[in-house]
Amino acid sequence: MKTLTLSAALLATAAAAKPPTCNDCNSVGDIAYQIVQKQTARNFFDINNKKGRAIIDVSDTAKDLEERVQARMNEWANSPAGQPPLDALIQTGKAAAAAGRTAVAGMTTDGDTCEINQGTIRNYICKEFADALYAHELSHKRTCEDAKAFGLKPKDVASVLFTAADEVRAYDLEIALLKQHLEKVAKNCPEWSLLRNVPPTDKQKKALDDAAAARKDSVKRATKALGGSR
Ligand SMILES: [Zn+2]
Repeated sequence: MKTLTLSAALLATAAAAKPPTCNDCNSVGDIAYQIVQKQTARNFFDINNKKGRAIIDVSDTAKDLEERVQARMNEWANSPAGQPPLDALIQTGKAAAAAGRTAVAGMTTDGDTCEINQGTIRNYICKEFADALYAHELSHKRTCEDAKAFGLKPKDVASVLFTAADEVRAYDLEIALLKQHLEKVAKNCPEWSLLRNVPPTDKQKKALDDAAAARKDSVKRATKALGGSR
C-alpha cells in the first residue's frame, strides 16, 4: 500500500511539469541537433558506414554492441561536434533538473513479448521528439513480431549484425520523422530560409534582427543562470 501511494505521488509530480514544445522558429536549432544526434548513433550501428565498421565486431554479443555505441555517443557528446545549440542546452538543463526529482524512463521494446513500454520520457521531451522515438520502437516491435511469426526466439535473432541492422532501420524511421518536422517548422523561419539560400524578405530581415537580439538576451540569461556575468 505504501508503495502505491509513493508511485501516485511521483506520477503527480511528473504530470505537473509540462513537457517542452518544439514547434516554433526558436526550436529549429534544437530539432536540427536532435537529428544530428540520432544520425550519429545510427552511423555507429551501420556496418556500411566507416564509423560502424570501426566498432562493430561480429564476435561481440548484441549487448556488447549497444554498450560500445553508448560509450561512443558519450565521447561524441563531450566533443566539440556534439555540443548542442545554446537554447537546447538550457532545455537539457531544465530536463536534467526535473529528472533529478523523478527518474526518467526511456522507451523500450520487450524482446520477449514485443510490447513497447513508453516509460516517462514523454513528460520531458516535446511531443514530436517523443512520437519519433515511439516510431523507432514500433520498428523494433515489428521486427520482434516478424521474428516470432517465423518461430524464432529473441536469442536466435540477437546476433550483432541483426541487432545493428534493426537499429539502423529504427533510426532511419525516427530521423525521417524528425526531418519532416524540421521542414514543417523551419519553412516560415527567416534564419532557415538563409540556410536554404533563399534571400530573406524585408519582413524576414526584421525578424532576423529580432531573433539576433533575442539570442543576445538568451546568452545573458544563460550566463547568469550558470553563475557568470557578461
Ligand atoms: Zn533502437
